[in-house]
Amino acid sequence: MSDILILGYGPAGISAALYGLRAGLDVQLVGKDGGALSKAHLIQNYYGLEKPLTGEQLLEVGKQQALALGAKITEDEVIDLMFDGTNFSAKGIAGEYHGKVCIMATGAARRSQPIAGMAEMEGHGVSYCAVCDSFFYRKKNVAVLGSGEYALHEAQELLQVVSSVTLLTNGAPLTAEFPEGIRIEQRHLQGLVGENTPQGAHFKGVHYEDGSEENFDGLFVALGSANATDLALKAGAAFDAGKLSLDENLQTTVPGLYAAGDCTGGILQVSVAVGEGAKAALAAIKYLREKKG
Ligand SMILES: Cc1cc2nc3c(=O)[nH]c(=O)nc-3n(C[C@H](O)[C@H](O)[C@H](O)COP(=O)(O)OP(=O)(O)OC[C@H]3O[C@@H](n4cnc5c(N)ncnc54)[C@H](O)[C@@H]3O)c2cc1C
Repeated sequence: MSDILILGYGPAGISAALYGLRAGLDVQLVGKDGGALSKAHLIQNYYGLEKPLTGEQLLEVGKQQALALGAKITEDEVIDLMFDGTNFSAKGIAGEYHGKVCIMATGAARRSQPIAGMAEMEGHGVSYCAVCDSFFYRKKNVAVLGSGEYALHEAQELLQVVSSVTLLTNGAPLTAEFPEGIRIEQRHLQGLVGENTPQGAHFKGVHYEDGSEENFDGLFVALGSANATDLALKAGAAFDAGKLSLDENLQTTVPGLYAAGDCTGGILQVSVAVGEGAKAALAAIKYLREKKG
C-alpha cells in the first residue's frame, strides 16, 4: 500500500509525485504511456528552458527526477478505480495498485469520434460506468461501445448481470481478446436512435451506416482507455452539470481522491499541469497527516 497512488506520469502526475516524495511519503505512479507531452514536438514556453526541449525529453527529465527521489513508476493501463471508504485500489491490465490517497492525472479525455445522439442521451440509456449502472439493466440486452481493454473490462462487468452484451466497435480494430459470450459487431455506426419521453430522448438502439437499425436496452461507452471522469465515477465521486466536482484543493467529493492537470479541463499547458499537480499533492499530504492524527 503506497501513501500516494498517482494515475498518469505526465507533468501533473510527476509534479505531484515530487511533492509527495519530498514529504517523505511512499509514491506509486501508474501510467499507460507518455500522454500528451510525448506528442509535443518542441516545448518553448515552459519556465527555465533556455533551449527548447522536445516533449519526450521533458517527460524523461521529469521521470528521472522522480525516480531519483524514490518514486515507483509502473507502465500499465488502469481500467477501474475502487474506494473502500478508507483506501483506493486501481485495477490495471497487468496488476492492482493501492494507495491511501489517489491523484488522477490522466490527461485530457480525447474521445475519438463523437456519435450523433450520444451526448443528449447520457443518463437516459447511455452510461459511462458499468459498475455504477449495470443493476438497472438486469436480464436486459446491452451494447458496449469500444474495442480495447477498457471496453473488455466494462463488458465483463456487465456480463454478470445482463442477458447479453454486444460490442460495437464502430469499425475500429479489436485491441483486446473478447470472450465468446460477447457478440462483436464491427459495422460503422451512423448514430444513436432515441425515443421521445417527457424527460427528452431515451436511448433505444443504434443506426448502422448501411441503413439498418438494432435495438438495445442500454449503451455503455468505453472508447479508448478510462479517463479521470470514468475512474472518478467508478470510485463514487459526484458530478455537477456533467463536470467532475472539485473543491479549491482539487479534491473530488470522495475524501482523498484528487484530480490534476489536463484532466480537470481549463488551460491545457505544462505549466498549469505542474501547478495543479503540486496543489493536489500538498492537499493530499495535509489530508494524510490529519487522517493519521
Ligand atoms: C502536440 C502537442 C503539443 C503541445 N505543445 C505544448 C507546448 O508547447 N507547451 C505547453 O505548455 N503544453 C503543450 N501541450 C500540452 C501539454 O502536453 C499538456 O498540457 C500536458 O502534458 C498535460 O499534462 P498532464 O500530466 O495533465 O497529462 P498528460 O501529459 O497527457 O499525461 C497523462 C498521463 O496519464 C496516463 N493515462 C491516461 N489514461 C490512463 C489510464 N487509463 N491508465 C493509466 N494511465 C493513464 C497517460 O499515459 C500519461 O502518463 C501540447 C500537447 C500536444 C498534444
